[in-house]
Amino acid sequence: MSRFDSILVVDWSASGTPAPARPSKDAIWLCLARAGQVQEPIYCRTRAEAEARITQIIADERAAGRRILAAFDFPFACPKGVARQITGSDDALDLWQWLEARITDSATGQNNRFDVAEAMNAQFSGPGPFWGKPDVDRWPGIPYRKEGIGFEDFAEMRACDRVAKAASSCFQLCFPPTAGSQMLVGLPMLARLRRQDGVSVWPFEPWEDKAVVLAEIWPGLIEPAVKRAMADGSPIRDSIQVTLLARALSRLSAEQLGQLMSGLPEAAWQEGWILGADHAELLQALADEGAPPAPPPLRDDCFAMPAGVHWTPVDDALAALRAGLHPVVRAEQCAVPDAAGRILAGPAIARRANPPTPNSAVDGYGFAHDSLPAGDPVLPLVDGRAAAGVPFEGSVPKGHAIRILTGAAIPDGVDTVILEEDTREAAGQIAFRAGIKRGANTRKAGEDVTEGSEILPRARVLTPADLALLAATGLGEVDVFQRLRVAVLSTGDELVEAGGAAGLGQIFDANRPMLLAQLRSWGLEAIDIGRIPDDRAALRAALDNAAARADVILTSGGASAGDEDHVSALLREAGAMQQWRIALKPGRPLALGLWDGAPVFGLPGNPVAALVCTLIFARPALSLLAGAGWQEAQGYDLPAAFNKSKKAGRREYLRARVRNGKAEAFASEGSGRISGLSWAEGLVELPDEAATINIGDPVRYIPFCSFAL
Ligand code: AMP
Ligand code: MG
Repeated sequence: MSRFDSILVVDWSASGTPAPARPSKDAIWLCLARAGQVQEPIYCRTRAEAEARITQIIADERAAGRRILAAFDFPFACPKGVARQITGSDDALDLWQWLEARITDSATGQNNRFDVAEAMNAQFSGPGPFWGKPDVDRWPGIPYRKEGIGFEDFAEMRACDRVAKAASSCFQLCFPPTAGSQMLVGLPMLARLRRQDGVSVWPFEPWEDKAVVLAEIWPGLIEPAVKRAMADGSPIRDSIQVTLLARALSRLSAEQLGQLMSGLPEAAWQEGWILGADHAELLQALADEGAPPAPPPLRDDCFAMPAGVHWTPVDDALAALRAGLHPVVRAEQCAVPDAAGRILAGPAIARRANPPTPNSAVDGYGFAHDSLPAGDPVLPLVDGRAAAGVPFEGSVPKGHAIRILTGAAIPDGVDTVILEEDTREAAGQIAFRAGIKRGANTRKAGEDVTEGSEILPRARVLTPADLALLAATGLGEVDVFQRLRVAVLSTGDELVEAGGAAGLGQIFDANRPMLLAQLRSWGLEAIDIGRIPDDRAALRAALDNAAARADVILTSGGASAGDEDHVSALLREAGAMQQWRIALKPGRPLALGLWDGAPVFGLPGNPVAALVCTLIFARPALSLLAGAGWQEAQGYDLPAAFNKSKKAGRREYLRARVRNGKAEAFASEGSGRISGLSWAEGLVELPDEAATINIGDPVRYIPFCSFAL
């Protein structure tokens, strides 16, 4: 399990004084990223401040149910053999503790790292290995220069430093790169972080199912990307480094990260490893994508239809739409209680097992199955009881039973629970029939969901039940796609606002309230652009307005090729227009195009055709654009309650409903009959081929609820 919700990258410093108030280089920089999106880098003037920020960030991420990888740019360990010389143990984490016990580091950064390094050197024969100091005459046990240090009993560099082609060594205390000094004042901080709940250190400890994993990184791996970013005039190198590294790491797929984190060489167990040491190119590529990960724009030809087809079959049209579109919304955070109907932008990972502890499934009595006598048991009850939220603290002795209520944690000494109704209680004892199975009426920890498992996939439209699952497994927030914004406008000189005064030849705008309501019921953000007269300039202005405010535009009317069909005319002018002649009844040509990058669905004006086209074409397309994937409405076969014959060459949708187990069709197929839309509770889909349907023949019925209406 190598998926992390959040990545924190830390650029550390060994400075003995606070960094300037104004963000500057060679200070401590932190950067947090989620799902490839980096946040503003954080500048810290002192290690104390940084440690507090890091601790807080980790706590916040945990509280929000997010798994976090925190990566630090100093060595987590020394070359093989060095730790043993200092602490007597090969375990790098023992060296962390050793240092934590000795390093003093004030709130403003004064520290004793050279004293401690001198003490470390004293454990080795000959000069070094730690070298470099600010003052030639102080710390006689620390050589000023590297020359003369043998590096005979152990290597100067670790295996991962060699693989990563890092120039720095953990022995260098002074003159950049001061990896050694940073390590001496960094490991005590990590030793403290490590003691917190749920934290583990990669690669020394099992980390696969840990909520917080600490790892070593080296910004040098992405140096070319950093250089390129600096060339753009970015001011502070450290801030660029943490930003690009955080972005790169958080853009790794779970599989890629898994490859980086596992299969390490033997040396890593003692020396640690630089995350991605042998994957510099991959990290550079991921760091490089300059812009924050806004979804890529749709291609101009996203609505292209197969050439040479006179009337496009519905399935071909759907396949073309599906191939041309992709999500156009970014991710954001959403509190679980507010997340119903929202679309997961990444998989939801259980923060805690369900149930978290073994517990009782019933009200009854618990005991150790082993301790049951032969024959019908009679067990004395211990004082006290175990209830949900109020565990029994003690241990239940063999041969005893305890009162236990549903949901209560199984107390120590208990593995089986008997249902209250199956017992008799008197004088502090219970009696029941022999034959209960070991483990009866108990729920095992994690039997429903294990910690760290994927509970819901990306693109899931969250249901009320999903909120229960997310909450039960400890998640307070989830990454969801921002709501897709869909603008709706009606075109036609004849249209009047519903409820207004309509003159001769005028009709009320029926499509807009219908379309807006549909979008809302799909959990999308519906934006009402209003009624637009059949006037090209007015329509152009309306489309501009819609494209500025929305991700997608739905228009109705004016989508054919007539004189007053300005939607298609304007889209054609804009260049990215396709007139789709779909072999479909009801429905006339659908105008599809891009206006300022926003996909436009030019629906027919006729309300019946507008509704059918919305359900059959716009809905799956909107769902894809919104991040929920292509959603096909599910239908099923029912006997027809009507007779009908149709010609080959186009698919037909009838307004329909189910009564007495049969699909009824609306009496008139007239496409002006809006009352039929209201009468209907679904659609009957008749195939492209010719068909003769007699009462009782199976027909495909798709209830409106399948379209999430
Ligand atoms: P059009 O696609 O613009 O040629 O319109 C086709 C038919 O649908 C015409 O009879 C229009 O009057 C009617 N119509 C267009 N828009 C609407 C609307 N918003 N509400 C009701 N009817 C409409
Ligand atoms: Mg019109």
